[in-house]
Amino acid sequence: MTPLTLAVQKTGRISDQTLDFLRQCGLSVNPGPRSLTARCADFPLEFLFLRSKDIPEVLADGAADLGLCGEDVVSEYGSDDLLTFERLGFGRCRLSIAAPGETDLTGSRIATSFPNTLRRWLDETGTQAEIVTLSGSVEIAPRLGIADAICDLVSTGSTLAQNGLVELDTVLRSESVLVGPEPSEPGKRATLDALLLRIRSRLAAQRTRYVVMNAPTASVEAIRGLLPGLKTPTVSQLADPGWVSIATVVGLDVFWETMQRLKDAGAEGILVMPIEQLVQ
Ligand code: AMP
Repeated sequence: MTPLTLAVQKTGRISDQTLDFLRQCGLSVNPGPRSLTARCADFPLEFLFLRSKDIPEVLADGAADLGLCGEDVVSEYGSDDLLTFERLGFGRCRLSIAAPGETDLTGSRIATSFPNTLRRWLDETGTQAEIVTLSGSVEIAPRLGIADAICDLVSTGSTLAQNGLVELDTVLRSESVLVGPEPSEPGKRATLDALLLRIRSRLAAQRTRYVVMNAPTASVEAIRGLLPGLKTPTVSQLADPGWVSIATVVGLDVFWETMQRLKDAGAEGILVMPIEQLVQ
């Protein structure tokens, strides 16, 4: 398979989660403390460790084929031809406008490290406001008197609250994504498809649990009707002739309500196990 280069965050808020996620996808990645590159031992992938905001740049100049970073970074620094191959479900945050209290943004000054994204949002919403670009510590700008409002990343909202700021509008919702330009050669596309199979198998596994339960034979039809599993569940006879064991996969979105209904239908001793990969 043709090797691909994947740029990921070196150190920062999503770097540990990125490495954990890649390992859960069955990719071995062992960066040295100061190394900027590492080779994956069991897949044709070379890792580049960079600052998040440099990832779109290496994709644009062809130094990397793929990037893993937040959608906020893609929005702010990425070119229009970047494709999102998969959303990865971690590093969730939102780019929000906040101010010391209810504030009319018209004619206001908004401090941000995301001037491009904010500019697009102001244009889309027809809001006339001045952008004050800062590279960090944006949340103190209103107190310093250099802005009336801020536009910054928020996850829990506790930093905003500590600085006496109230969230007014959401400019962008973000999570970590795998992005890149369309691969230039068929060999690279094939490697990307193999990588996406691993990633999607892991994402599907995170959304499901493997469930095994005992039930009276007379309850099997009722229990089958409750199980939205992959196909029909596996039903095996127990040593006790009136009882069976039923195994299936249940989605997390309906997990607890399904468990309650299974118990009500006569299921007992319900075992719940995580799934490593769900390849479909
Ligand atoms: P860092 O370069 O360490 O500041 O990491 C920033 C990246 O982490 C951002 O690009 C976001 O995608 C993600 N992130 C998730 N939650 C937050 C948050 N509350 N504040 C800043 N970044 C966040």
